[in-house]
Amino acid sequence: MGRRPIVMANWKMNKLPDEARAYIKDVAAVVQAYPDVEPILAGQDVLLQTMVDAAEGTHIEIGAENVYWKEEGAYTGETSPKVVASLGVQYVIIGHSERRHYFRETDEMVNLKALAALKNHLSPIIALDESIQVVSPNAHMHWIVNQVIEALKGVTNDQMAQVVLAYEPTQAIGSGMAMNADLAQKDLYMIRETVSDMFNAEIAENLRILYGGSVKPENVYEIMRQTDIDGVLVGNSALDPDNFAELVKLAH
Ligand code: PEP
Repeated sequence: MGRRPIVMANWKMNKLPDEARAYIKDVAAVVQAYPDVEPILAGQDVLLQTMVDAAEGTHIEIGAENVYWKEEGAYTGETSPKVVASLGVQYVIIGHSERRHYFRETDEMVNLKALAALKNHLSPIIALDESIQVVSPNAHMHWIVNQVIEALKGVTNDQMAQVVLAYEPTQAIGSGMAMNADLAQKDLYMIRETVSDMFNAEIAENLRILYGGSVKPENVYEIMRQTDIDGVLVGNSALDPDNFAELVKLAH
C-alpha cells in the first residue's frame, strides 16, 4: 500500500477563532473531493477546541504546534499532551525549527516530547532542521542523521506507524525560496535509510516524510513528485485557505 500524502498547514501564532472557523469551512468544501490526501491544520493551543469542532464531519485532521513532555503537574504555562489528545487532536508538531532556535529546544527535549506524544496517542510530526552553518556534505549528512537518531530513541517498532518526519531546511523556512526538489529528495532518502538502519526496511518504507520550507502552489508539484517526499508542511502560503485547498488539489 502506498503512503498517503499529507498537506499540512502550520498557522504558527496567527488567526483568531472566527478566522479559524471560516478557514476550515472554506477548505472543507474543496478538500472533500480529494480524500486520498490527508489535510492537517496545526494551530495555537487556544484555538484547538475551535478547530476540532469546526472540522467535525470532515476528513481534516487537527494538530497542535507543540506539547510538553509531562502529562500533568506543576509546570505553569505548559501544555499537556494528554489534554491535547482529549480534545480530539490527532497530531502535534515536535521540534519545529522555531522551537529549536527561539526556545532552545534540544534533541533530547524533542525526543522526550515525541515519546510523550506517542504515549498519549498523539502522532508526532517530528521536524528536522538543517542549520545554515552546516557547510560540508559530510557535516550536513551527519547533522541530519544525528537528529533522526536522537529524535527516535526509545520509540518502538509499533509506535513508528504513528510517527511522521518533516525535513525543513532552515534557510528555506519563510524565505520564499524552497530547496531544490532533487536535493531535498536526496536528503529525504538519507532520512529514510537512517530509519531503515534503526528499525527495519518495512518501517522505513511505510514512514511518511514531509518537506517544509517555502512550499506554495507554484512549486508543490515538483516537490511532491519526488520518490521519498510524502507531503508538505507549509507556513506562510497556507495562511490563505484558497492556497491550502490548491495545495491539496495539486498533491492529489
Ligand atoms: C514552517 O515554518 O514550517 C514553514 C515551512 O514555513 P514556510 O512555508 O513559510 O517556509
